[in-house]
Amino acid sequence: ENYHAVLAENRRLYNEVQDLKGNIRVYCRIRPFLRGQNGKQTTIEYIGEDGELGIVNPSKQGKDSHRLFKFNKVYGPAATQAEVFSDTQPLVRSVLDGYNVCIFAYGQTGSGKTYTMTGPNAASKEEWGVNYRALSDLFEITQSRRSSFMYEIGVQMVEIYNEQVRDLLSSDMKNSFHPHGLAVPDATMLPVKSTSDVMELMDIGQKNRSVGATAMNERSSRSHSIVTIHAWGTDLKTGASLRGSLHLVDLAGSERVDRSEVTGERLREAQHINKSLSALGDVIFALAQKSSHVPYRNSKLTQVLQSSLGGQAKTLMFVQLNPDVNSFSETASTLKFAERVSGVELGAARSSK
Ligand code: ADP
Repeated sequence: ENYHAVLAENRRLYNEVQDLKGNIRVYCRIRPFLRGQNGKQTTIEYIGEDGELGIVNPSKQGKDSHRLFKFNKVYGPAATQAEVFSDTQPLVRSVLDGYNVCIFAYGQTGSGKTYTMTGPNAASKEEWGVNYRALSDLFEITQSRRSSFMYEIGVQMVEIYNEQVRDLLSSDMKNSFHPHGLAVPDATMLPVKSTSDVMELMDIGQKNRSVGATAMNERSSRSHSIVTIHAWGTDLKTGASLRGSLHLVDLAGSERVDRSEVTGERLREAQHINKSLSALGDVIFALAQKSSHVPYRNSKLTQVLQSSLGGQAKTLMFVQLNPDVNSFSETASTLKFAERVSGVELGAARSSK
C-alpha cells in the first residue's frame, strides 16, 4: 500500500511539472531478453500504466535497492514497433504543419536504440522502426492533403564521430568529412517522392556509414547518426508556405568506459561521446527549465541540432534499457540522465515494498 502511496504522490508531482515544461517528452523502452538469454535475472520490477518504472538492484538489500521513475510512457519488452510508433505519430505529423521535431534514442550499446529508430530489418514492414514509419506516414498524409496542400520532402543523413560531421549522402565520400563547420543545412539533401526512394537512400547512408570503419558495429555504436527529413508545404488556396523538419537521432552508446582499460583512439572516442552526451543533457535540461542560457556551443551534436532544439521545437527522447541485472549500473546511469532531461527529479522517492 505504501508503494501505491509513493506512486500517487509521484504522479501528482510529475503532472505538475509536466504541465510546466511542455515541449520535452521522455519515453522509456525496455528491450526483451534476446534468444539464448532465458532465465536471466531482470532489473525491471514494475511497469505502471502511467509511465512509472520500478527497478531493483538484486545485489543490494533493503529499500535502497528499489527505485521508482516516472516518464511520459514506459514500453515493456512486449511492446511492438507499431505501438511505439502510434504514440510518436502525432509528433511526426506536426512536421507537416511547420514544426521542428527532434527524436533521440539514448542508451548503452545493445539496449535497442537502432531497433527503435530503424528496426532490425528494412525488408520487414512489421519490424520497421520510427524512421521508416515516419517517412511512409508523411507520404501518406501529403497524399491525403494533396487537393489543398503541395509538399516537397527532402532527406539528409549525417554521422558525428569524434566531433567531426560526416555527410553520408555525399557523392564524394572521400571529402565527406567536415571537421569544422558543416551544419546539417550544408549536408547533401536528396528529394524523396516515395517510400522506395527512402529505402534506397537509407541503404546508401548505411553503406557509407561503414566506409573506413574496421568493424561496422563497433564504429556505429560510437558515432551519432542523424537522419533529417525536411518538409516544405504550400497552401494551394492562399499560396502561404511553411517548413518543418524532423531529426531522427540514433545516439552513440552511453556506456561508461573504464579509463584504466582503454587508451589511445578508444579513449579519445569515449571522451568525445561523453562530452557530447553530457552537452545534449545540459541543453535539454536548460530547455526544460526554460533557462535563459542554453549551452548549444559545447558539442558538435548540439550545434548541428541547435535550430531544432528549443523555441517552438518539440523533443522526444527514447530512453532504452537492457533488462539484464548485469546491466544494472548502466541502467541506473541511463535513468539518471533521463530523469535529468525530463526536468523531474523523482528518484529520491523509493518504494518500500
Ligand atoms: P543499440 O542500437 O542500442 O546498440 P540494437 O538496436 O542493435 O541496440 O539492439 C541490440 C539487439 O537487441 C539487436 O539484436 C536487436 O535486434 C535486439 N532488440 C532490441 N530491441 C528489441 C525489441 N524491442 N524487440 C526485439 N529485439 C530487440
